[in-house]
Amino acid sequence: SMSSSLARVAATQAAKRSLASVASEMHTVTLIPGDGIGPEISESVKKIFAAADVPIQWEEVSVAPILVKGKTTIPEDAILSIKKNKIALKGPLATPIGKGHVSLNLTLRRTFDLYANLRPCRSIEGFKTPYDNVNSVLIRENTEGEYSGIEHEVVPGVVQSIKLITHEASERVARFAFEYAQSSGRKIVTAVHKANIMRLSDGMFLETCREVAKEYPDIHFDEQLLDRACLHIVQNPTAYSDRVMVMPNLYGDILSDLGAGLIGGLGLTPSGNIGQHASIFESVHGTAPDIAGKDLANPTALLLSSVMMLRHMGLTGKADQIENAVLSTIAKGETLTGDLGGKATNSQFTEAVIKAL
Ligand code: NAD
Repeated sequence: SMSSSLARVAATQAAKRSLASVASEMHTVTLIPGDGIGPEISESVKKIFAAADVPIQWEEVSVAPILVKGKTTIPEDAILSIKKNKIALKGPLATPIGKGHVSLNLTLRRTFDLYANLRPCRSIEGFKTPYDNVNSVLIRENTEGEYSGIEHEVVPGVVQSIKLITHEASERVARFAFEYAQSSGRKIVTAVHKANIMRLSDGMFLETCREVAKEYPDIHFDEQLLDRACLHIVQNPTAYSDRVMVMPNLYGDILSDLGAGLIGGLGLTPSGNIGQHASIFESVHGTAPDIAGKDLANPTALLLSSVMMLRHMGLTGKADQIENAVLSTIAKGETLTGDLGGKATNSQFTEAVIKAL
């Protein structure tokens, strides 16, 4: 159909955009330092990018919530900056809990229709954790599911939160997963679901993945229940090493933290929110209020997110250089932040990475 071929073109473009740009020109990228440890870890990225001569000019914007007609929203200049530059790096944002507050992260994902959340999770060679061979890629549907924000009180004491699944969003994220598998040399796409219980919603997601799979005969497609996937990935993470896992929103949120636990924690896991017109790269972790402002944060997750961003922009040489410097600094083990069992500050770790460039 017309819409499916359009979706295919969009997914192909998003997956292959990394080939499009030229390395020598100067690029402008929106930087949202964020809250809590956000400004500290953003500073680390800026220092390392400057030391590595990355041809990027940062356009720094704040997304501090503002009130418009009684509703929280994101300042217009932040929106305009991302619209113009099409690429952003973002620190974590604090989400106030409770009634009347909208998550700014959700607002950003919706505003720019960032439909695929790409979350690689890879063991760092030389850094000892209970698991040494994790190399999974998880792709989370990023626009609907349990995060659709459709909630109401039916009668006092009874509430409903609606999980919305559409064929369209399932199809484009499934297609993104297959395109990503193809371009990254992974042989298997696994749909993770609970279609045995959520027959209609997860059922449609799964059925859509099966349809899309038919267009990719070179990639093996299989299916796994979410609970089974959690069990297996902990028992034998290596079995997930040549796979791309694709799943509805909430499952991806949870399973990716499980993955982070296997490789040394939230200080290490990057992500990309990919859309047709813009992409925003950010660490998986939050604002870490317990260590904010103390120069104790590990900037690795944001650094690896910035490496994903560089690859997405076609700046692969710079991406490799920075990634190698970060990973070798961790592997050396002399300058580790507290979350990795060391005593180094964020600034000391950043200096060590710069020396390793
Ligand atoms: P969190 O990820 O901020 O912290 C969980 C634990 O991990 C804390 O002990 C923290 O110190 C540690 N940690 C996280 N990142 C670290 C790093 N880079 N280096 C060292 N230690 C690190 O999760 P939380 O406490 O549940 O959430 C705090 C706030 O962040 C909440 O307001 C939440 O809504 C928000 N949040 C934002 C995002 C985002 O912007 N994408 C994601 C998750 C949570």
